[in-house]
Amino acid sequence: MAHHVKAALIDMDGTLYDSMPRHARAWHRMVTGLGIPATVDEFFRYEGMTGAATIRQIFRERLGRDASPEECERLYALKARYFAEQPDVDVMPGAQQMVETLLSRGIRCVLVTGSAQNSLLSRLPADFPGAFDIRVTARDVTRGKPDPEPYLKAMQLAGVSPAESIAIDNAPLGVMSAARSGAHTIGVVTGPIPRADLIRAGADVVFDSMPLLASALPQLLTPNS
Ligand code: MG
Repeated sequence: MAHHVKAALIDMDGTLYDSMPRHARAWHRMVTGLGIPATVDEFFRYEGMTGAATIRQIFRERLGRDASPEECERLYALKARYFAEQPDVDVMPGAQQMVETLLSRGIRCVLVTGSAQNSLLSRLPADFPGAFDIRVTARDVTRGKPDPEPYLKAMQLAGVSPAESIAIDNAPLGVMSAARSGAHTIGVVTGPIPRADLIRAGADVVFDSMPLLASALPQLLTPNS
């Protein structure tokens, strides 16, 4: 574990918010609305990618062609509308405790998300006071997760090195992005994705739930532990 952790770079969907099932349902509704057969579960594997990248991949795989920028924009807006129409998303159990522990140690909490979903981004100050004044969202990167760019950008904005950073993410593509950035990478299982997939993606350590990570964090942040 890093001795002098200055920043925690934290994913949003499936990490801070229990939002992945709702995202999967919104994607499913949008994609099947185009006449493309799909199951809800398959949308978990896109987790971490930006909306535009997800749409481009679905078009290539299912329609055998690239999506135009206009299609990406229009279909992402539709998916975002379907997401926002669903009932409120809950804060992930353990997430507030985790953030409070980090802030109490003087560790800056930085958001690193592939999302551009305002319905969640706008809730952050109320749900996590004192955290996430620095944010890297889908709008801020040219190459999203699994590329390391989002996590590297977060370090740059926070003025920290990889050795001074920990990253916390629940998805294989997010963990891959974090591990490639050089941050100490903590994977958290919060949905149907098994821990083996997070280890394979490069996580330094994996916790089986956010409450388990939150409980272990004080010990984890103690030097030489
Ligand atoms: Mg996530």
